[in-house]
Amino acid sequence: MRVAVVGGGAVGLTAAGDLAERGDTVTLYERADLGGGASGRAAGICYDAFADQTDAAVATRALDRYREWGLLSPRPYVWVAREAGDARAVRDQVEAMRALGLDVEELTPETLGERYPAVEMAGLTACAVANDAGTVPPRQVVDHLAQRARRAGATVRTGTPVSLSGPKTVATADGEHGFDAVVVAAGPATEPLLAGLDIPLALETYRAQVAVTEPVDASLPSLYDASREFYWRPRDGGVLVGDGAHAVDPDDCDPEADPEFVASIRDRFRAATTLDPAVERAWAGPCTATPDRDPLVGRVADGCWVATGWQGHGLMRAPAIGEYLADRVHGDAPELDASLADRFDPTRFDGDEQFHPLGDPTADW
Ligand SMILES: Cc1cc2nc3c(=O)[nH]c(=O)nc-3n(C[C@H](O)[C@H](O)[C@H](O)COP(=O)(O)OP(=O)(O)OC[C@H]3O[C@@H](n4cnc5c(N)ncnc54)[C@H](O)[C@@H]3O)c2cc1C
Repeated sequence: MRVAVVGGGAVGLTAAGDLAERGDTVTLYERADLGGGASGRAAGICYDAFADQTDAAVATRALDRYREWGLLSPRPYVWVAREAGDARAVRDQVEAMRALGLDVEELTPETLGERYPAVEMAGLTACAVANDAGTVPPRQVVDHLAQRARRAGATVRTGTPVSLSGPKTVATADGEHGFDAVVVAAGPATEPLLAGLDIPLALETYRAQVAVTEPVDASLPSLYDASREFYWRPRDGGVLVGDGAHAVDPDDCDPEADPEFVASIRDRFRAATTLDPAVERAWAGPCTATPDRDPLVGRVADGCWVATGWQGHGLMRAPAIGEYLADRVHGDAPELDASLADRFDPTRFDGDEQFHPLGDPTADW
């Protein structure tokens, strides 16, 4: 088959590599630089702590592939709650995850404090840890996936914005190019690209921000604070602390972090630990959202496939989703959970749904 992939992020690059490995003639088009959308800007936290079977299967496969490629550094992923309601949710999640066979356990705040003395345990009502989690270096992930795709024979064209003049026809500055299949993994731009073909997608965009501190002298897990809605992971000797998400027009997503975000995230990190490091750098990037918070992955027209709507989890899912798409496009039976095709079906919405990308129209955290 001759296959075009639109979008040189982690998802498009994985799909391109997997299709090329199956013997297809693949051309990947990236409008700017590889990883310049969300993928190169991600925090790089990866975990399998999902209470849903399909989500857990995707995460498990993705983690396995990142391990195989030597890109995953093991790092437990801890999530904590401070309110009674959130604590009940954490306990229910742990029970459901353990029933799926995941290596997840509830910890008392005291145990968490013994394992990680720099984590402030006062005020915590529940904590849990996913032991098989890890972190990946986003830029190296993009470089690795690009090398892998090229080695398998894919042509990777950067600086090449495209539009679609048909479900299987890509238009570039050189003219129109026909393919047997087109995979669109263009992040927020997937929606306008498909809208040109009268294929509506229920997709919104929000902007996420992260800051990296100066080096700290402490052992820390990756951690998500469900009550204060922020997260961190150790990175480059310091700590990457993230959140600051708000709805945004995809064409107006400032890549520089807001000074207010940097001040507030530093305060939240200081309150949650015994540490008080200065912030060294910060940035922002686009994330995609759907009405039910599940991604849009699958066929939208004969020979035309999409993959977007990650709700902030696209980097960790990319190895599994790229492989799944390659199987589907190529006509092979995917090994992943069979319910994925329905759950993530991109045509499950009309496309004219009005929804807030962060769920709550007043959310601006
Ligand atoms: C600050 C931040 C932190 C994050 N942290 C994490 C994390 O810890 N873990 C996690 O799993 N996820 C995280 N994410 C989310 C993750 O980065 C994304 O879900 C994932 O990278 C999406 O990958 P993608 O390949 O679908 O899209 P992208 O990486 O956005 O790639 C899409 C590409 O398509 C290209 N494109 C668009 N239009 C066209 C066109 N017309 N022609 C050609 N090319 C086009 C763009 O230039 C872009 O390079 C984070 C995101 C941000 C912003």
